[in-house]
Amino acid sequence: MENNLRMKHIIYFLAFCLCTFACMAQNSANRLTSFDFDGFTLHILSEGQQQGNKSILLGAADSIIEKYTEKGSFPNAVNCFLVTTQNGKNILVDAGFGKLLFDNLNALNLKPEDIDCILLTHLHGDHIGGLVKDGKITFPNSQVYMSRNEFDYWKKQNNRLAQDVLEKYEKQIHLFVPNKIDEKRVTIIKEIPELSAIAAYGHTPGHTMYLFNSEKPLLIWGDLTHAMAVQMPHPEISVTYDVNPEISAESRLEVLDYVSRNRIFIAGMHIAYPAVGIIKTVVLGKSYVFVP
Ligand SMILES: [Zn+2]
Repeated sequence: MENNLRMKHIIYFLAFCLCTFACMAQNSANRLTSFDFDGFTLHILSEGQQQGNKSILLGAADSIIEKYTEKGSFPNAVNCFLVTTQNGKNILVDAGFGKLLFDNLNALNLKPEDIDCILLTHLHGDHIGGLVKDGKITFPNSQVYMSRNEFDYWKKQNNRLAQDVLEKYEKQIHLFVPNKIDEKRVTIIKEIPELSAIAAYGHTPGHTMYLFNSEKPLLIWGDLTHAMAVQMPHPEISVTYDVNPEISAESRLEVLDYVSRNRIFIAGMHIAYPAVGIIKTVVLGKSYVFVP
């Protein structure tokens, strides 16, 4: 009888271990994933996977919500990205909340001091949260890049975190004017000629995407979307977080058309795991699908 009980305990314990291990593998897989592109590697540093709620969708008809969401919710995430180039540059694109960022960098054997540049898509808290900790800057050796429009906008906003970042990184900040999507690209960092910045205004007045050019080009599109399940079939739907929902929708349609025509890989800060893939056209200028 006692032996039976002991056996039962051992089986429970083994089952528990197996389950914990499986969950851990899954978690770390969803938290940190790397993809090799031609000439650089993209590391997805996830700050967490979550479900978004229909309440953020602006003007979405009930029929759309019913068709494309699961009882009003859809997969969503908060990510930032690290791009490592062939010549050894470590480029961080946004800094998330700063929740899992440092653990994720650590898992790649990187210290904050090893990050050469930080490219900011915009200055919302889920993109710059990792830049200051306990009143101090977290990336002492990084040059920080953002669009002039974004800088000018946040300078005038009464937002403590954004003000803090702009003040504390003052000597490391570089401003630029991003290209329009169909314009000839201008390099923003001399040592990284494959990188260019493209305007996708609307979400914020200076919201910027970053294009890494190679045989397999990659566009990190920031917050162009927040609800892929809805905004791919209906890119005209913006979200409550967009400062200018109309311009955001225009940018989204323009970018979707461009990346689907040119077969450019995309990665997004709020796209659920794996957060990277390609866009295919269903109806030009109207509806698209995301293929992870
Ligand atoms: Zn965001």
